[in-house]
Amino acid sequence: MFICCAIYILTGKNHDIYKNNQWENFENVGDFGDFDKIENIIIPNQAEEIAELSEIWKPTFQDANFVISEQNENMIFEVPILMFHYIQDIPSNTTDQLWYKLSYSPQKLETLLLFFKENDIEMLTFWDLKSIIEGKKELPDKSVILTFDDWHLDHYTNAFPVLKKHGAKAVFFIISNKPDNDPKFANWDQIREIAENWFEIWSHSVSHSSMSALSRQNVLYELEESKKKIQEEIGLPVISFCYPSWKYSNTVLNLIKDYYIFARTTHNGTKLKVNRRFELPTIRINPTTKTGDLNHFWGIE
Ligand SMILES: [Zn+2]
Repeated sequence: MFICCAIYILTGKNHDIYKNNQWENFENVGDFGDFDKIENIIIPNQAEEIAELSEIWKPTFQDANFVISEQNENMIFEVPILMFHYIQDIPSNTTDQLWYKLSYSPQKLETLLLFFKENDIEMLTFWDLKSIIEGKKELPDKSVILTFDDWHLDHYTNAFPVLKKHGAKAVFFIISNKPDNDPKFANWDQIREIAENWFEIWSHSVSHSSMSALSRQNVLYELEESKKKIQEEIGLPVISFCYPSWKYSNTVLNLIKDYYIFARTTHNGTKLKVNRRFELPTIRINPTTKTGDLNHFWGIE
């Protein structure tokens, strides 16, 4: 009974409860509608207004402590975690299919941010998620989490300016051996700059190896070293992880608990289950994704 009430209070909706150790089937992205009218809306001084309203909260290492009750372990939230890769002009879809499929244009990203603003969809982060689970923050009626994988240079040059302009919240998953070593990726100075602008920096492993293929020792290395390196570079606690190459195993799930609070997968879905918080699902954003493909998540016609 308590669980039902807790879920009801948190989501404002009635959800099925996770039972008998079974995953529920994830919903697909759904009907494709047309909701691009929002593209011409101009919100003057929006960034300044939001900047005034938001206090830049800096977590301490003590804030990374996470203790939850048995009841809260059973919470389920409905929050779409959107997954972006390259933020760039959409390349041809004939030369490199993967390059094409993982791209999203900065203009479309801006349209999405305006859509969230127009529809009172609050952008959350993993620190927010932790606060909600701990009962320190209420789950908004409509919310979303924006995640950017791999920390390509275009995250800094193309995504960051758009996100900053609109006072957006977002999460970047960093491959810790790339910055300062590979020019295709943004560097540590740039990471520190976005961390100072209230964006969250989390681990996407050391080397982007497929974790299900690694030995226990190497899994530990990827989990531990990436966290340590990022924390040293940005001076902030790292509590979230994202599995590289879409793969993980039971060994990984057993080990990750000692280092992180959350991990995002590439499973399709929007139900965030606290007792499966190391297998958080996502919604893949592809080059043609429009606001109309997403609006059903928040009950928007
Ligand atoms: Zn990746």
